[in-house]
Amino acid sequence: MATLLIAEDDEDIAIVLVRVCKRAGLDVLRAPDGQAALEMIVEKHPDALLTDLGMPRMDGWELIRKVREHPEVGDIPVAILTGQLAPGDPRAAEAAACAVLLKPCPNDQLLATIQKLLDNGPHEHDQRCEV
Ligand SMILES: [Zn+2]
Repeated sequence: MATLLIAEDDEDIAIVLVRVCKRAGLDVLRAPDGQAALEMIVEKHPDALLTDLGMPRMDGWELIRKVREHPEVGDIPVAILTGQLAPGDPRAAEAAACAVLLKPCPNDQLLATIQKLLDNGPHEHDQRCEV
């Protein structure tokens, strides 16, 4: 079973995301901020990361940067889920995120994107990468 880590500080949103993803058959880990997410990624090696941007302690941008720099987990597929980003914002590609989802994101779109990330699996992020 594939494991997805959800980094989301909003408790209500996180509960819904976890429920939707578990119902789709995923193993789900949840971190309430970027720092906790980074520690979980290094410790548990989830198959994909779904991350919010605005979070306490460490935001999503810094989390993605630290993940990408990490020698063991740098190739994990990452999707951003945010209400703060305009479609096509170049920072997502610069951060080597694989996909950007905008809140509120329909469940079918969310799950389809996560499935694509899992199908793609770990990969190099030297180049622009978008699902
Ligand atoms: Zn990628």
